[in-house]
Amino acid sequence: MDYISTRGKVEKCGFIDAFLMGLANDGGLVIPSEIPVISEQKLKEWESLSYQDLMLEIFSYFTNDEIPYEDLRKLIYDSYSTFRDENVTPLKPINDSLYVLELFHGPTFAFKDVALQFMGNLYSYVATKRNEIINILGATSGDTGAAAIQGVRGKEGIRICILHPHQKVSKVQELQMTTVQDENVLNLSVKGNFDDCQQFIKELFADVDFKHKYHLRAINSINFVRILAQTVYYFYAYFQISKTKPVGKVNFSVPTGNFGNIFSGYLAKQMGLPVGKLILATNENNILERFVKEGVYMPGEFHSTYSPSMDIQIASNFERYLYYLTGKNSEKVASLMNQFRSEGKIEIAGEELLKVQADFESKGVQGKDCLQVIEKYYKQYSYLFDPHTACGVSAYEACSGDDEVCVVFATAHPAKFNESIELVHIEQTFPLEIQGLFDKTQYQTVVDNEKQQLVKQLETFFA
Ligand SMILES: *Cc1c(COP(=O)(O)O)cnc(C)c1O
Repeated sequence: MDYISTRGKVEKCGFIDAFLMGLANDGGLVIPSEIPVISEQKLKEWESLSYQDLMLEIFSYFTNDEIPYEDLRKLIYDSYSTFRDENVTPLKPINDSLYVLELFHGPTFAFKDVALQFMGNLYSYVATKRNEIINILGATSGDTGAAAIQGVRGKEGIRICILHPHQKVSKVQELQMTTVQDENVLNLSVKGNFDDCQQFIKELFADVDFKHKYHLRAINSINFVRILAQTVYYFYAYFQISKTKPVGKVNFSVPTGNFGNIFSGYLAKQMGLPVGKLILATNENNILERFVKEGVYMPGEFHSTYSPSMDIQIASNFERYLYYLTGKNSEKVASLMNQFRSEGKIEIAGEELLKVQADFESKGVQGKDCLQVIEKYYKQYSYLFDPHTACGVSAYEACSGDDEVCVVFATAHPAKFNESIELVHIEQTFPLEIQGLFDKTQYQTVVDNEKQQLVKQLETFFA
């Protein structure tokens, strides 16, 4: 398997180089040159596999034997040994048409752990094997940073710096990031919003000299390995249903911000998994909903919501989908992205818009509806959703038919977002791991929303 850029100006490379490249050197995103299609018979064989063995099978199509089978196996098993549930991402039935896939059993109680525990180990493996210096730089709306830091802390040969928007992440998210004392971790708290942080990262990675001088590597969802790691649980969820009852297609409702998690579902579908509707759940920051419904991709006004990990206006993985939407036309992708930079929007119409609407359904969930869903399901089913998951459930109610089966992704544990749970007067008991954070010392540097200040911090830390 070769890896290429959505903008077509990067030479083909292998799996490990694609992993290390993160954002492609031409400013595009890395994708596999072709998507393998899994036969029905293979899918049947995979039904009974454990999460880890399933991941091993799926990754084997993409790693080109660059990682020997036994090494890959060890990397995968080590990565999920930190999870609190032996099934890694257990599936829970709520009623006949609704299942919840709990993605929050990793160290930071959000779905980002699933990919980032693995990526932390993979970076460390590559650092040792290739004798490389690896400095990870990323931006977070809260969960990615915490998960990335947990994946990297204390490991040899790698350092990590994470930018987060100052006081715009939840208390637990902030504590999970900043109570880590390891020397290879730096937290920068930027006086701006998440899009500002993301923009800095994009600019720094686009500056090829800077990127090379400081050996920068990406850990946010622009890295293809993260997308691939997330593809695994679509398969896993499907199999947990299909091995117990005959089921045709299964819908997935996915709380979405950067278009990462849902793109993994798009990939799973292209690989032959019987995915029905891919439901893109967002909050009031609904650029993606407007894109699906009207064909206009244009940032709107920024809203702070109950689901802050989805408070995103520019979805950094969107370009990957554009590549497939345009029939793998990298020139067209490059020109659309240029247009986006100069005019601030992309418009799709006619056949292409119909294609988008065949690929996705979408709902931007209002805050009050999000809270109502939390309350309703807690009363009716004694199941407590976090506000991101609640957006997924609300979108499921709007988009999935009664006679269809839908899996909603529980992307975070409710304890991570107690600020919202309190609003509906539900008292929850915190897991001990989270409770313990409140007594710890915080380590972070607050910086202005200004590139020079930021660069200075990075030059010192990564020197
Ligand atoms: C990151 C995150 C999302 C959004 O995921 P994307 O891959 O950015 O679409 C949703 N919910 C939670 C809890 C998250 O941490």
